[in-house]
Amino acid sequence: MTSIHGAPAEQRDLEAARERVEALRTEIRAHDYAYYIEAQPVIGDSQYDALMQELRALEAEHPELITPESPTQRVAGAPAAAFPVVEHREPLLSLSNVFNRDELAAWQQRIVRLLERDPSRYVCEPKIDGLAISLVYERGRFVRGATRGDGMQGEEITANLRTIRSIPLVLNADPDSLPPAFEVRGEVYMSKAEFQRLNAERAEAGEQLYMNPRNTAAGSLRQLDARITAARRLDLFAYQLGWVEGERPLASHHDAIRWLRDLGFPTNPHTEAFDSIDAVAEFCEAWVERRGALDYDIDGVVVKVDDFATQRALGVVGREPRWATAWKFPAEQAVTRLREIQVSVGRTGVLTPFAALEPVFVGGATVSMATLHNADHVRELDIRAGDYVIVQRAGDVIPQVVGPVLARREPGLASFEMPAACPVCATPVYKDPDEAAYYCPNRTCPTKLARQLEHFASRGAMDLEGFGEERCAMLVGRGFVRSVADLYRLPEREAELLEVDKIGAKTLEGLFAGLQASKTRPLHRLLIALGIRHVGGETARALARHFGSMEALQNATLEEIQAVDGIGPIVAEAVRAYFDDPEYRALVGDLAALGLRMDEEVAARGGPLEGLSIVVTGSLERWSRNQVEDLIKGLGGKVSGAVTKKTSFVVAGEGGGSKRDKAETLGVELLDQDGFIQRLRDLGWSEAE
Ligand SMILES: [Zn+2]
Repeated sequence: MTSIHGAPAEQRDLEAARERVEALRTEIRAHDYAYYIEAQPVIGDSQYDALMQELRALEAEHPELITPESPTQRVAGAPAAAFPVVEHREPLLSLSNVFNRDELAAWQQRIVRLLERDPSRYVCEPKIDGLAISLVYERGRFVRGATRGDGMQGEEITANLRTIRSIPLVLNADPDSLPPAFEVRGEVYMSKAEFQRLNAERAEAGEQLYMNPRNTAAGSLRQLDARITAARRLDLFAYQLGWVEGERPLASHHDAIRWLRDLGFPTNPHTEAFDSIDAVAEFCEAWVERRGALDYDIDGVVVKVDDFATQRALGVVGREPRWATAWKFPAEQAVTRLREIQVSVGRTGVLTPFAALEPVFVGGATVSMATLHNADHVRELDIRAGDYVIVQRAGDVIPQVVGPVLARREPGLASFEMPAACPVCATPVYKDPDEAAYYCPNRTCPTKLARQLEHFASRGAMDLEGFGEERCAMLVGRGFVRSVADLYRLPEREAELLEVDKIGAKTLEGLFAGLQASKTRPLHRLLIALGIRHVGGETARALARHFGSMEALQNATLEEIQAVDGIGPIVAEAVRAYFDDPEYRALVGDLAALGLRMDEEVAARGGPLEGLSIVVTGSLERWSRNQVEDLIKGLGGKVSGAVTKKTSFVVAGEGGGSKRDKAETLGVELLDQDGFIQRLRDLGWSEAE
């Protein structure tokens, strides 16, 4: 018992705490809404954590203030023994399926026949490949959630659903303005990013990897220990207003979705309404290709008649509503037999195992091959030649083998071993102990060479038309090419080439013209084309810009290379190692003798910055370093790495230290971003460029 003097003070404390707790909860909910529904967080994570921290502390001090809807209660308590079964007040129906335009048209014609008119408005939404759930709200508070189950009965998983932060625990409206109770239906899913994060964690811990986001979401949601659910980030899309106690507040599905969104439910942003069934079909077809771009799996598009009165008029047949259907995409996963695990050779000599499959139709295409990445990956998945495997393909993403169907494994199948010798040239393979990859070390390995040609000719490199996989293999296979330099000697062998099947005089002419044109590509393109280890587009540009010529780069010391902006020690070493190799040095000499350009872009002629030498230092708000340098070059200016007396002016952004000082010492003009933009305008540049 507290003292008689203490009681009122404590009472006051409690009142103050209650007010603060309420204020904190309101604020946190507002931030949840900004984060989950509007995707426009107003405050940073640490500020959000501070609010939660304060709320937790107050609740610990005054446990009587804790309510089930408090944001702190998303963290679950002790595991349940089993999930109670709940009967759905109204069944969660299943949907009929259509797979193409004709079937969609047939579905619509049935409706038109029954109604004796066109329902005229349809709502389409991506069909999330997750788990259907039912959420019940009373007086604006989340009170009960359940799985779909068989549609009539599901399992009550309220505690687990509470841990999903995109499910609102309290709705964003005055409870008096809401129906006293209603149900919201939605799909719980796991994003691809979260799925990958989880699998990366498991791979690190040496645990077996999960198959796909859907099964993982299902498994996570049905954990008896809700703390496990809480540790995996699940998400929700609300897709339907279910039963409503009292008056139904809205007239159409589209309005209902908007209403749910306003109340704080995440709804799918790709939901769209259409007035014609043709437009619906176009929407559905477009998503077959677009689905790969989403961060969650979808397996179709749901099409609904929009108007609630029309929905009621159409009713239900069996367990399927007549007013909705699902346009299902071609299966993304299929089971087929793995005939063999073969090994391909890449341009660096890296050996990559891949699956030779019995052809199977999956995700809208027939698949007979799938990459297996590397030997470790094959071992982790434990797939063996002769296994039945699950193959997955989404949109235009390359097919993948998800894993073996162990129940169908025949006895005696051998585990995969990387071959001891290159499958192409039989040279013993080499494994770098620090890497997962195995290599063919033979420099004249024909496949390796063919791949190098393909890379040399690729768009970001020398951009040669007509040097695809097949032609490169032919050129190497028939001895026309023993190094990339031989490409430029092909014109000398025109007569022999004309004897090769499938190459006509016209084609050859095109190939030769392309080769000739490629000789003037700037140095950075050649550096990319050479395929120096770790040298991609950005690095090649930085090197070319800094050194200006092949000669300067070849003669640069390791320290000098490493001193280039954006080049680290590993890249610097790889570059130095390349030019220290007599064979590669000879190749570069050969290419120079054949007339290839060995320096970087000189200023384009005729631009407003013609004749000016400009140094950029520090970071600008408006452009990245590469963008601003491209802009200058595009306008005819020359970008220089060092400030000299010849420098026309220096564009200095945030933190451009030593070059700024140098400019000041030499009396070279300094411009900040705005000054630079003004100068460009004065020279006749317009923003639109
Ligand atoms: Zn080889």
